[in-house]
Amino acid sequence: MALLLRRTSFYASRLFLTAAAALSVAPRVLMAEFCTDGKCNDEVEKAKLASEAADKYQFQPQDTIFSKIIRKEIPADIIYEDEKAIAFRDVNPVAPTHILVIPRKPLTQLAASTEEDIPLLGHLLWVAKNVAEKENLNDSGYRIVINNGRDAAQSVYHLHIHILGGRQMSWPPG
Ligand code: AMP
Repeated sequence: MALLLRRTSFYASRLFLTAAAALSVAPRVLMAEFCTDGKCNDEVEKAKLASEAADKYQFQPQDTIFSKIIRKEIPADIIYEDEKAIAFRDVNPVAPTHILVIPRKPLTQLAASTEEDIPLLGHLLWVAKNVAEKENLNDSGYRIVINNGRDAAQSVYHLHIHILGGRQMSWPPG
């Protein structure tokens, strides 16, 4: 009986490790599959490819770069964190101040949120407001952006709020 139990737990742990390895490698393999001919240099193209990959392979948000930031597996310039949210500087800023606020909860996009996320969505906006204030953006103003899906050029499928400030912006956005 003890031998049977040991064998079962051995095979269960092998199965778990194989699944974990497959999940962590999959996004890199997929982006290599989708990003050919230098196409991934363009943000919109990258967003379209990310959306296609997400549709085709049903990415889990736990696989994205932002989940790695949450788990502290890769570095980021984190400027605020609490039990529900993290804010960090965008690695490719499009304004003098460009900060992302993300939930710890793995939500792919705004459209995937449900009624139970109402307090979380309010919290994310509250964090964005406080971070913007700390960055001295209140007087000059700032823009809050959520890109949702392909047409909005969402490229990372983990919900995030962009805080953009420090320069005059135009409307409509591109
Ligand atoms: P979106 O196009 O709305 O999905 O925005 C994704 C944002 O994530 C872009 O502005 C990227 O520059 C930013 N980004 C991607 N990887 C990282 C990273 N490792 N650290 C910080 N920001 C990132």
